[in-house]
Amino acid sequence: MRTLHSWPAASSLRDLVLTPTAEERPCGACGGRRTICDHRFHTVETFGGPVRLVCKLIKCVDPACPRVGKTFSPEAELAIAPPRLVVDWEIFAWIGHRRFARHWSVPQLRAELADAHRIHLSDDAIESYVTRYETMLAARQNDPVHFAADYRDIPELVLSIDGLQPEKGHETLYVVRELNARRVWFAEPLLSSTDEAIEALLVRARELAATLGKPVRAWVTDKQSAFVTGIAKVFPEVPHRLCKIHFLRALAKDVLAADQHLKVTMRKKVRGLRAIEQEAMATRSPAVATPSSQAVPSEGPTTPAVPSTGAVTRPTTHDAITPSSSPPTVPPGAAVVLDYCTAVRGILVGDQGDPLHPTGTRMASALAEVQASIDRCLAGKKGGRKRHG
Ligand SMILES: [Zn+2]
Repeated sequence: MRTLHSWPAASSLRDLVLTPTAEERPCGACGGRRTICDHRFHTVETFGGPVRLVCKLIKCVDPACPRVGKTFSPEAELAIAPPRLVVDWEIFAWIGHRRFARHWSVPQLRAELADAHRIHLSDDAIESYVTRYETMLAARQNDPVHFAADYRDIPELVLSIDGLQPEKGHETLYVVRELNARRVWFAEPLLSSTDEAIEALLVRARELAATLGKPVRAWVTDKQSAFVTGIAKVFPEVPHRLCKIHFLRALAKDVLAADQHLKVTMRKKVRGLRAIEQEAMATRSPAVATPSSQAVPSEGPTTPAVPSTGAVTRPTTHDAITPSSSPPTVPPGAAVVLDYCTAVRGILVGDQGDPLHPTGTRMASALAEVQASIDRCLAGKKGGRKRHG
């Protein structure tokens, strides 16, 4: 596909003349010396500005040669830019890497290329490059030479299979991975995960293991029934273990139930934030015209290490008299109280955790830190400017 792309005037383009090397000169069919017959322009964007590649073409002129008259491009062209694309390899790799390793969106890529590099590509062009990059990456991933090289120093294989379902009712993506090299072997979307379909994936894994000539030491899965029967059939002698996460989760079932109870109890106990906030807000002075009036002074140990939110300056109906002026000031003490409320609210809605660090336990230790911080502030207040920590 040729992408329409607007270039500056030819006179302002940097020309790079590419001539076939001495090694490229002999004809592949008859061995005779090919002669330069024509040239072709291939203009590409580079991070150093657009470049016009002047590709000298060669052809065999021996009338007896089966390839007589067929033109060939200099190989150097391919080292600079992918065939027919309007960007060089560096930009091509830049796009692919940011898309797949950094998860940038196409509009984000387009904006960054335009803003930072003055390279103006359409969404269509970027999408097509992203697809090409993905294809190349997949081809490289499946390349038998690279595959074998990754396993040169690995004596045995530990395989895992897992089904990932992005949304209910959608097809499940089955991924087969090898854990010693941390390599995805292949992934297959399946609409129905019948025993036969799973078995086909296991057979494919067995074939790949055979091409490496390495023994499969173990299989690790979540032990869903199709995996259990399939692995027993296709890998009869290979141990099949439950994956560590699932093993731990099964083991931690009672702990997680207790943790859930802890979480609910804590949320019931730590209440009344709104009342505290309203009380703090009531101490504010009315609006002042200076724009810097909303700055909240911070003083070492008296300020909790949380970002303050809009809660500090949120106007209520009482302040509606001067809508265009700066928000009313909050006395430093009240601002600190509001920051603590924000921190505690953030802790209570938090829902992160894993079997080794359950949500409720994390919540409890975070609340304990807030308590300790408040205690330090109060102690600091009594003892003047005393520093803690
Ligand atoms: Zn020839």
